[in-house]
Amino acid sequence: MAPVTMPFAGISRLFQQVHLPQMLRSLSGVSPQDLGLALKRIALKRRPKGIPPVNSDFYDIRDLLSADERATLTTIRSYMEERVRPVIGDYWERGEFPHELVPSFAHLIKETWGRQPYAIDNLGPVLAGMAFMELARVDPSIYTFFGVHWGLAMGSIAMFGSAEQRAQWLPKMERFELLGSWSLTEPDVGSATAAGLTTTARREGDSWVLNGAKKWSGNAPFADLNVVWARDLGDNQVKGFLVERGTPGYVVEKLEGKIALRVVQNANITLTNCRVPEANRLQNAGSFRDVARQLGLARGAVAWAMTGTAMGAYEHALTYANHRIQFGQPIAGFQLVQSSLVQMLGNITAMQTLCLRMSQLHARDGKISQERASLAKAFCGEKMRETVALARNVLGGNGILLEYNVARFFADAEALYSYEGTHEMNTLIVGRAITGIGAFL
Ligand SMILES: Cc1cc2nc3c(=O)[nH]c(=O)nc-3n(C[C@H](O)[C@H](O)[C@H](O)COP(=O)(O)OP(=O)(O)OC[C@H]3O[C@@H](n4cnc5c(N)ncnc54)[C@H](O)[C@@H]3O)c2cc1C
Repeated sequence: MAPVTMPFAGISRLFQQVHLPQMLRSLSGVSPQDLGLALKRIALKRRPKGIPPVNSDFYDIRDLLSADERATLTTIRSYMEERVRPVIGDYWERGEFPHELVPSFAHLIKETWGRQPYAIDNLGPVLAGMAFMELARVDPSIYTFFGVHWGLAMGSIAMFGSAEQRAQWLPKMERFELLGSWSLTEPDVGSATAAGLTTTARREGDSWVLNGAKKWSGNAPFADLNVVWARDLGDNQVKGFLVERGTPGYVVEKLEGKIALRVVQNANITLTNCRVPEANRLQNAGSFRDVARQLGLARGAVAWAMTGTAMGAYEHALTYANHRIQFGQPIAGFQLVQSSLVQMLGNITAMQTLCLRMSQLHARDGKISQERASLAKAFCGEKMRETVALARNVLGGNGILLEYNVARFFADAEALYSYEGTHEMNTLIVGRAITGIGAFL
């Protein structure tokens, strides 16, 4: 093919703009040969008639769901787009939680998850995973709020509570009348929680006395109930305690100065001779193994949320690229920009299909494999980080402005990358599984 000459390139841009007077002026200086080429190009209809719909489900994973299940996801997506998206940037900037949304969010969860009591697992692993993805696709903070309350706090009571404890706490928590938090991490013990928590529990008659400190606990500044993990001085095993807000010796301070998930309220907590009744000890949690089992579930959920985070950033970047004009044409028409967009979509598709299979296996086996959840968390973490960075770059300077949405995903991704086990911890879990050698120490 003959090399493209400058006049032809000029005409090509004019066709993108469809600005007739300008086009005619340019045509007057164009050679007949270039004009012929240009007309041929029009005849080939290379310019798309319209902008294709933005779709981050390129391999149609939603099609694996039933019509009812798809409707559930649509309900969640509509709520997130209509109620959360318009307001969340302002809350993010102020570092505040949107309490005004809790009643409508509770209604959404009742409509989707919670048609039966003890609704925590109602959706099954695949649909639940996709629902987490939908939440994070609009806002990773709302996903995190829900993940801590529903997955970690309610999850602990559902998995390790006695029948009485489940009956006492879960119905109110399902209705979001009581909000939950979950405290494992300590100021000096993060990745190494399995090697030994320093927060202690001492049995005294019918109660337990807790001493120590916790860091990061999500929702804790406003939660009614916190699941606190502590080492029993009697048998050295890790046990879970339901600490109610207002308990003497339980002091919660909001953690300030975050540059990610600013909507999520995290806390530093001190426990000083904090006394809780034996009735508030999770009756069926006997060791750190139980916590690890719960962490496996949470990591699988975060892998889906990472996928949603990447989808949200990609969709905003693609929409932006289709409308941002530079050099007389949408930047989506530049090869380098398309390369970034395709890399993002490839990442997202890999994340979606990996998470999907993880959840299918979870459904098949009736439990999640910790190693598979860790691989998903580690892999999706890397791909999410790469995707949000590419998205932020597609927006140029606007990529760091909250108003354009991508900046929020870009920043929030950093928190998802670290919580529920850092990238290194999840890598080491898989490394141990495939080599038989633990490399943590
Ligand atoms: C936004 C946010 C919300 C959170 N919410 C909660 C919550 O609700 N409840 C809760 O209990 N916790 C929560 N966490 C805590 C979170 O789980 C921890 O941050 C995480 O486990 C890592 O611990 P750390 O921050 O103390 O890092 P550290 O353990 O100090 O690790 C620092 C670095 O060293 C690396 N490292 C550590 N050990 C090794 C090793 N053996 N080999 C190689 N590398 C290693 C880590 O991978 C990391 O890169 C939250 C954290 C964040 C950021």
